[in-house]
Amino acid sequence: MPLDPAFLGNLVLILTAFGGAFLAALWIALVIWTYRDIRARARDPLVQILSALLVAVLNLPGVLVYLILRPARTLEEEYQHTLEEESLLQALEDLPLCPGCERRVQNEWQVCPNCHTKLKKSCHHCSKLMELPWNICPYCGTPVPGMRQDSLNIDEALRGLQIGDSQVEADS
Ligand SMILES: [Zn+2]
Ligand SMILES: [Zn+2]
Repeated sequence: MPLDPAFLGNLVLILTAFGGAFLAALWIALVIWTYRDIRARARDPLVQILSALLVAVLNLPGVLVYLILRPARTLEEEYQHTLEEESLLQALEDLPLCPGCERRVQNEWQVCPNCHTKLKKSCHHCSKLMELPWNICPYCGTPVPGMRQDSLNIDEALRGLQIGDSQVEADS
């Protein structure tokens, strides 16, 4: 059966129209995708418009160029990265300084490895680390040897002080 030339012409026309519509939709979709993507990666409006324009003019090769040139991290990722760096820095700054040489030391160190300054002492009963001025172990309650026992009764000492103070006030 011979094909009707008019029908064939119509078919080509319809196929061309569909193809054209598809290409146009793809073109617009690429521009929209690029604009959304660059908005997540750059704050500068000029960069955003230029990126969208690049894809609008060059289409698929433009997307390729954009993918090569776009910022590696999105703004969100960049923010997370900055936060991580800041918390790392903060952790470093939170480390105590050696009173001898002013270098950063770890909390668990007994002696500064640099200048040999004594930083902490260990309880002779439970071996936990204590600050140097402490005269009783906060973990097991054992007093440090050589400390006066009556210094433990700090409550009574304070009470005595307060009575003394109020008497002074009453007298004056
Ligand atoms: Zn030191
Ligand atoms: Zn102890």
